[in-house]
Amino acid sequence: MTLRSAVMLLGTAMMSSLTGAAVLLASGAASAQAGKPTVAILATGGTIAGKQPDPNAPGYKAGSFSIKDLETAVPQLKDVATISGQQVANIGSQNMHDAVWLKLLKAATETLAKPEVAGAVVTHGTDTIEETSYFLNLTLKSDKPVVLVGAMRPATALSADGPMNIYNGVVVAGSPQAKGRGVLVLMNDEIHYAAEITKTDTTHPNAMKSPNRGLAGVCDTGKCRFFSPTEKRHTTKSEFSISNDVTELPDVAIVYAHANLSSDLIEAAIKAGARGIVIAGVGDGNMTDPALDALGKAAKDGIVVVRSARVGKGVVKRNIEVDDDKLGFVAAQELNPQKARILLQLALMKTKDPGKIQKMFMEY
Ligand code: ASP
Repeated sequence: MTLRSAVMLLGTAMMSSLTGAAVLLASGAASAQAGKPTVAILATGGTIAGKQPDPNAPGYKAGSFSIKDLETAVPQLKDVATISGQQVANIGSQNMHDAVWLKLLKAATETLAKPEVAGAVVTHGTDTIEETSYFLNLTLKSDKPVVLVGAMRPATALSADGPMNIYNGVVVAGSPQAKGRGVLVLMNDEIHYAAEITKTDTTHPNAMKSPNRGLAGVCDTGKCRFFSPTEKRHTTKSEFSISNDVTELPDVAIVYAHANLSSDLIEAAIKAGARGIVIAGVGDGNMTDPALDALGKAAKDGIVVVRSARVGKGVVKRNIEVDDDKLGFVAAQELNPQKARILLQLALMKTKDPGKIQKMFMEY
């Protein structure tokens, strides 16, 4: 299938799936005529821009279509916003790394500073969408809406989910109600706060969940509503900022706990230069005695140790089965290991004091 025919197929699929939607959109589109918001799309790749070499066989390549293709595939975007676009990267988000985060942060900062831009949509792979959204949530200094969208099915798939996610994302990014809520992720008609969202299924379109505090809101073909605002600090209220000369973030390793965990991986992480270690603990952030001893020693040597949990839900509190006070550890609270890693990276740019870092884990 050529790229052009794939895009046309995608556009046709979107048109037919939105036949009923046009009615729902009519009032929004009518009022939009008077002054449609300008929404910037920052594209980074992912399955939402993915292409199957053979639509009848499994397998696809993430980050195959450009931002222009995505815009062409969803002509309904013109009804709800004036779109401007920028291709920041075109990668599978399993390859996300510091340089792209920093480039994206810069691009979003510059775009949102323009008075005519109401908000931004970031198209992104779903593998690490929870990480990029949380990174931006902590570092972006703007209260304008920023909405990350992805897709579980490639753009050329039957019943691709990307077009609706982009459409809803643009509506939310252009909406005054989304202002000041921090960075959001929109997938499968659901709006998530960046600190909450996590991917819970390898392939299902309903993969994204906010397991601790629940959804930020819901959408139905461009009709979106918000629930409670988040209590977490973010964006303009965040103490973290990254200047343009920063090229990489501090090295923080995640060690995954399991039965019979030895100290080997912890020692290897330290040897490789980790300034912080997040343990994805069993249960309530627990681990074997050899791991505990190795991390206790690391903490004494000035490496910041954060206890998170591999279970996917719940709160890791201080001093339950592990004596955090004695060992000098930080308890991750609600943050899963991959988000705890990001907060620790940013924290380490300011301090190594576990007490101060614990306070950050209470607030973000
Ligand atoms: N591997 C893809 C990515 O994260 C998966 C997806 O987008 O759903 O880029």
